[in-house]
Amino acid sequence: MARIDLVDLAHSYGGNDAPPASFALKPVTMTWRQGGAYALLGPSGCGKTTLLNLISGIVTPSRGKIMFDGKDITPLSTQKRNIAQVFQFPVIYDTMTVGQNLAFPLKNRGVAKAEVDARVRQIADLLDLSPYLNRKATRLTADAKQKISLGRGLVRSDVAAVLFDEPLTVIDPELKWQLRSKLKALHRELDLTMIYVTHDQTEALTFADTVVVMHDGRVVQSGTPAELFDKPAHTFVGYFIGSPGMNIVPAEVSGHEARIDGHVIGLRRNYGVLPAGKKIEIGVRPEFVDVATPASGLLSAKVERIDDLGRIQFARVRVGNTKLAARVPPGFSVSGDTTGLIFDPAHVHVYADSQLVEGV
Ligand code: ATP
Repeated sequence: MARIDLVDLAHSYGGNDAPPASFALKPVTMTWRQGGAYALLGPSGCGKTTLLNLISGIVTPSRGKIMFDGKDITPLSTQKRNIAQVFQFPVIYDTMTVGQNLAFPLKNRGVAKAEVDARVRQIADLLDLSPYLNRKATRLTADAKQKISLGRGLVRSDVAAVLFDEPLTVIDPELKWQLRSKLKALHRELDLTMIYVTHDQTEALTFADTVVVMHDGRVVQSGTPAELFDKPAHTFVGYFIGSPGMNIVPAEVSGHEARIDGHVIGLRRNYGVLPAGKKIEIGVRPEFVDVATPASGLLSAKVERIDDLGRIQFARVRVGNTKLAARVPPGFSVSGDTTGLIFDPAHVHVYADSQLVEGV
């Protein structure tokens, strides 16, 4: 397994001379540590697969380089990069048994038979495929075939990295739950550098130690699930992570105060005088917005509906033209259609042109 460095890496399908804003991957420099579990998370079209394909060598970058353990591998073909890949759809040989399929990547590299057998047994055990080792792959369900694909991706212990491109898309929802946490356990057990592309935040947050969030061809934040939740570096991360996402509210901010709809909200930190001409917003997660009987001094909101998700409820409210969500206790109801809102100052963040501003 390898440490992976991306150095000023960028890609445009329209060539290097295309306008920078049109690049599928805008320049990124970052390091992925050896043995880490990374998720590339973002909506469709944000550049996840492009970045994964640059690492695997399927796509050649327009700019920059990729290093494995300090060695520039950008000119190397996919085969020479020593990586394993698992795709959205199963890639297996139907005519072989499950065991032969799992063994294939090892035999292909001339690994000794005893070692092949031991590794195949280990991987089959981890993926609950042991009872099927002698069965022809053709007779298995689509779910089982995808498990074999996962196994083939994980069977070699000498790879620089294992790359997964939305590997659970075709899996039945019940098994998806199991495989999500299983992949996490597999990462711990096998000690491989893993990079996992998904647009599903639950998959990313369950699997990864570090989630790399992408938006419009750009890496907007890389952090632990807790960091992404507690301190989104970009309003997109706040909104995209969480269900519902962070409330993003236009505000005027100065010193320790944010002014929203004529009301002053206290801030824990001092933001001084923010630069003019930038779009200033505050971000606060629904979990840190309390509702209270309307009273002077409280921000007043119009209640539009209550979303009852069983054990938790969210009030959907409106302040001026801005919609917000607030987590409310079970059984919550409002008399009248307005409520007061209280933001927990410790969890209110300030953004200028969508970027987090650190107060002092
Ligand atoms: P998805 O989850 O839908 O696969 P993604 O986040 O993986 O999306 P990419 O597939 O990397 O995003 O696409 C990023 C951008 O590059 C998109 O605008 C897409 O249309 C464009 N793109 C991807 N592949 C090509 C290609 N072969 N030729 C031209 N443009 C491409």
